[in-house]
Amino acid sequence: LKSGLKIASVALALLGVNARLLGADPDPLAKRMGPIRGRLVREGLAKGQAFAMLTELCTTVGHRLSGSPGAAKAVAWAERTMKRAGLDRVRLEPVMVPRWVRGETETASYQSGAAKPDTPLSICALGGSVGTSSGGITAEVLEVRSFEELRAVGERAKGKIIFFNRPFDPGLFDPFAAYGGAVGQRGSGAIEAARAGGVAALVRSVTGRLDDVPHTGSMSYAGDVPKVPAAAVSTVGANRLSEALKADPRLRLTLALSCETLPDAPSSNVLGELVGSEMPGEVIVIGGHLDSWDKGQGAHDDGAGCVHAIEALRLLKAIGVRPKRTIRAVMFMNEENGNRGGIAYAAAARPGERAIAAIESDRGGGMPHGFSVGGGPAVLSAVSKWGPIFEPLQLDRFRAGGGGTDVAPLTAKGVPGFEIIVDTQRYFDYHHSDNDVLGEVHPRELELGAIAMALFSYTMAEDGLPAVKRP
Ligand SMILES: [Zn+2]
Repeated sequence: LKSGLKIASVALALLGVNARLLGADPDPLAKRMGPIRGRLVREGLAKGQAFAMLTELCTTVGHRLSGSPGAAKAVAWAERTMKRAGLDRVRLEPVMVPRWVRGETETASYQSGAAKPDTPLSICALGGSVGTSSGGITAEVLEVRSFEELRAVGERAKGKIIFFNRPFDPGLFDPFAAYGGAVGQRGSGAIEAARAGGVAALVRSVTGRLDDVPHTGSMSYAGDVPKVPAAAVSTVGANRLSEALKADPRLRLTLALSCETLPDAPSSNVLGELVGSEMPGEVIVIGGHLDSWDKGQGAHDDGAGCVHAIEALRLLKAIGVRPKRTIRAVMFMNEENGNRGGIAYAAAARPGERAIAAIESDRGGGMPHGFSVGGGPAVLSAVSKWGPIFEPLQLDRFRAGGGGTDVAPLTAKGVPGFEIIVDTQRYFDYHHSDNDVLGEVHPRELELGAIAMALFSYTMAEDGLPAVKRP
């Protein structure tokens, strides 16, 4: 038997099969990608531009809510930066976006007892909220942890400011899971408050960090209930208010907001690419969103994602490779409060081309570890075969999932969606707040994200993806 096996193995060796089965010899793609990976790393880490690009975005543009002067400057920044990076066919695609403005006034304070002075709380309006009357709303406060609890309260909610105070679950490993467990209060708090007869919604900031900085974010209204004002309170403020309510359940809170929604405004997505050398009509979209909330500098969310995409293409160009298929960087406008850019991009007619993948970066500029992979098991299995190419950079974590909000309209049309996986343990410390500034982004981690995007999109452009059934 032994000699039989030996003969079989020699025969296989002659056929060139056993080496691959045993993993002794890398497959041709991995072999070819090795030096390219090495050049990407050297170019990126020694001469990378990602942090310089992000510095310019954060310091000369700053935050950039859709329709604002900042967003218009961001469009110009993206166009200029793509041209400077040497991308092909840099262009704008116009899109109309919602225009919500915060206004000058956003204050909250509570008064407890007869002699007690006003105690101010650190708050900010939630994006899309209506304002209060100029004198603000003054009412008693009802604290709840869930919509179920609010519904069970019944009449007692009438005329009150509903205070949604469910914290992040600190016991969860994945911060996005903790976010998912708390963000419903922000998104639907105003609807549930109005439905219960409340006059406003005050929501604990959707973050696990304990500080005095409020975090904004999108919220919505329903057609069948009044639009009541909605604001976020810092986690420190939420704890203070909760304590004060225990001591004095009849305390009164005054909330004043001057935010409002203006007519839609013109804006643009910004596109630039490396045209494929063999299959230019097969397009791999990589990108993030150019807009941000009107807080901080939008450094992690999503300046980092924009820079990841532009720098990825600059790196490929700098090391002198041209992909077989087209890789296109798209800076999507209006992810935060409408996703009009993502919708418009997917809806546009693009004769002669077919999107084969859409890779998003919208989880901040932390250390990259791999990619979330959509399109089903066949795509995951194809991508997993690239493991040896990514393993030396500790980027070989490929897991089933998909892209983010910007590329969701593309994935809805059957294009496999992907997203870079980065370390997100600190992401919600910054998210949608004045904490989201350049100083919280590490230059090397940011550049490694761009290198990851370059290596992943280039490998895909060379190897392709298995055909995915369209819905
Ligand atoms: Zn984002």
